[in-house]
Amino acid sequence: MSFFYKYFFILIFLLLSIPVYAEYLTLDSHIDIPFDYMDNPKHDPGNSTEMQVDFSKMETGGLDSGFFIVYVGQSNLTDEGFKKAKEQAMLKFSAIHKMLQKYPDKILPALEPDDIRKAKEKGKISAAIGIENGYILGNNINLLEDFYDLGARYMTLAHIGHNQISDSSIPKKSLNDPLEMHGGLSIFGKQVISKMNELGIMVDISHVSDKAALQAIQLSEAPVIASHSSARAIANHPRNLPDNIIKEIANNSGVIQVVAFSSYVEINKERNNAINSLRKFIVNLTGDKVFIYRKHTENPQYKIKMDEINRDFPLPSVDQFIDHLDYIVNLVGIDYVGISSDFGGGGGIDGWMDASQTKNITSALLKRGYSKNDIKKIWSENFLRVWTDVTNHSKKKSKQNLSD
Ligand SMILES: [Zn+2]
Repeated sequence: MSFFYKYFFILIFLLLSIPVYAEYLTLDSHIDIPFDYMDNPKHDPGNSTEMQVDFSKMETGGLDSGFFIVYVGQSNLTDEGFKKAKEQAMLKFSAIHKMLQKYPDKILPALEPDDIRKAKEKGKISAAIGIENGYILGNNINLLEDFYDLGARYMTLAHIGHNQISDSSIPKKSLNDPLEMHGGLSIFGKQVISKMNELGIMVDISHVSDKAALQAIQLSEAPVIASHSSARAIANHPRNLPDNIIKEIANNSGVIQVVAFSSYVEINKERNNAINSLRKFIVNLTGDKVFIYRKHTENPQYKIKMDEINRDFPLPSVDQFIDHLDYIVNLVGIDYVGISSDFGGGGGIDGWMDASQTKNITSALLKRGYSKNDIKKIWSENFLRVWTDVTNHSKKKSKQNLSD
């Protein structure tokens, strides 16, 4: 009898634990892709790959949806620089479209918040598109409309290095950036925000300077997002947000998507020094001038030495990551936080190294005492609320313009 009961209870436990994860609609607001995405079989998410995000990893980890990112690094503010940036951006837009065309049985495009929910109901994953670095606009504000038509639903105004739109939280040494270029947003940057509001593209203040972030929040007629940033009070890094900006985002009904990027989760100087030395070593080894993230992190020597660094100076844990989220919840409440990985762009912490480990985040939230409703908000509802507000604002504006 006791034998029967034992297995009976195990069976009941297993049946009950399946919906624990499935009931949450999970959304990761920042997933980077390489330039040869879909062209190189190693970078085709339909295959079993070494990328941190592919379909089978998403399925294993229960990751339902993500913003796939059209990222282009900052370079010179010249016509030539702008032209090249746009070409690079178009490669990534095409790659994401190619993924959606090749695997309609697996992944569906998300052009509005409801598409994310509908895909989950159909048992499929979904992909939305975000732009990282408004640099790709050059001086042509009308390009925003083209990018919207290609599916872009948020745009990070800048990246590392100031651009024509905004000052960055980290000036780029190789471009001889001064501490500030515009004192926050440029005049063009202010026009860009207004156009984004009009089109229904979310304004993303991750990566920009504190001044620029405050100006953007104030200027934007719709709520803004921080697509991948954590709390500066926990880890004092310029990429993280100070309390006053967190409060301003919340006051305007926006959302902060806490990011699992190790050096923003925890300041660990010894680890950073070890990584910097490794980068110099790889640059010398390959004969390149500077560290090229995508190329050099795939170097076998880099991988071996990175494993040693991870052993000697361990990555921060999921618990430390949740500390950032807790901090923001305590500061402004449960309605203004979400989650991002930055996988493919340097993200990854101990316990969430790739999309297959996504359930660890849900478990950690449950362990911290967050209710099911709270976790639903954290995993997607807060973000989808902002996206809906931004979309509705745009519709209202276009109606006004028609009646004007
Ligand atoms: Zn980033």
